[in-house]
Amino acid sequence: MKKGKKLYEGKAKIIYATSDKDLVIQYFKDDATAFNNQKKSTIEGKGVLNNRISEHILSSLSQIGIKNHLVKRLNMREQVVKLVEIIPIEFIVRNVATGSLTKRLGIEDGTVLKEPLIEYCLKDDKLGDPLIAEEHILAFDWASKKEIEKVKKMILRINDFMIGMFRGVGIKLIDFKLEFGRLNANGKKDVILADEISPDTCRLWDSLTDKKLDKDRFRKDLGDLIPAYTEVAKRLGILHEQSNLSAVNVTKLSSVKRKRK
Ligand code: UDP
Repeated sequence: MKKGKKLYEGKAKIIYATSDKDLVIQYFKDDATAFNNQKKSTIEGKGVLNNRISEHILSSLSQIGIKNHLVKRLNMREQVVKLVEIIPIEFIVRNVATGSLTKRLGIEDGTVLKEPLIEYCLKDDKLGDPLIAEEHILAFDWASKKEIEKVKKMILRINDFMIGMFRGVGIKLIDFKLEFGRLNANGKKDVILADEISPDTCRLWDSLTDKKLDKDRFRKDLGDLIPAYTEVAKRLGILHEQSNLSAVNVTKLSSVKRKRK
C-alpha cells in the first residue's frame, strides 16, 4: 500500500490517500488549537503520544466489538484507517459537568451527573460547532433515526468501557467527543466509530488529585502538557518507565526527524 496525495488537513491531523481506495493514512500533527481556532500552538511530541494512545483505545474497543476505523498504526505519527463518509455531528459524552456545559447552564464545575449525558454539536467551524438537538439532526437529514439510535447504543458501551479502563489506572473520565462515519459494507451502509480518542478529545482527571491530564492544560495555560499525556500513556501501559519513548525522547525523536528532512 503506497501513500498518495494529501486529501485534507485539519487542525490536528492530515489525511493522505493510499493506493487502496478504501483506506487513508491519518497523520497526527503536533498542532494544538482551542476556542474554535482562536488559540493555536505547536507542542512537540503531542502527535506521537496521541497516535499511540488512540491506537491503544481503538484496538481495545475493537476487541469488545465496537467497530471503528482503525486498521493499523504505521509508525510514530501515522495510522491506516478506513475511509468513511463522516456524519457531520460531534457527539459529546459527559459523566461530570465541566467546560462549556457549566458555562452554558450555570452548573457547578465537577458536578457528577446521575447518568451519562449525550450532547450533539454540528461540525461546522465557521459556525463554532453549535449545540443542536436530536430533532435538528432529523430535520436536516444529517443522520437517520436508525443511525442515531445505533450511535447512542455504541456511545454508552464506549463510555462504560472507557470509564472502567481509566478507573483501573487512577483516572476519571470526565467527558469526551466522538465522531462516527458511514462505511459501505456488502452494499449496506454501516455506522462505525471514526475518530481519534486521546487526551486531545477527552477530559481526564487524576482520581486522587483531580489534576488535569488532558488538553485543558493547553486551553487553560496550565503548562506541562507533554508530561500529562505521557503520564496517561504510561498508566495505560503503552509507555514503560524504561521505554525509549519517554516524553523527552518523544520530543527529541520528533526534532531529529524534522532536522533530517
Ligand atoms: N471536544 C473535542 N473537540 C471539540 C469540542 C469538544 O474534542 O471540538 C471535547 C473536549 O475535549 C471535552 C468534551 O469534548 O472533552 C466536551 O467539551 P466542551 O463542550 O466542554 O468543550 P469546551 O467548549 O469547554 O472546550
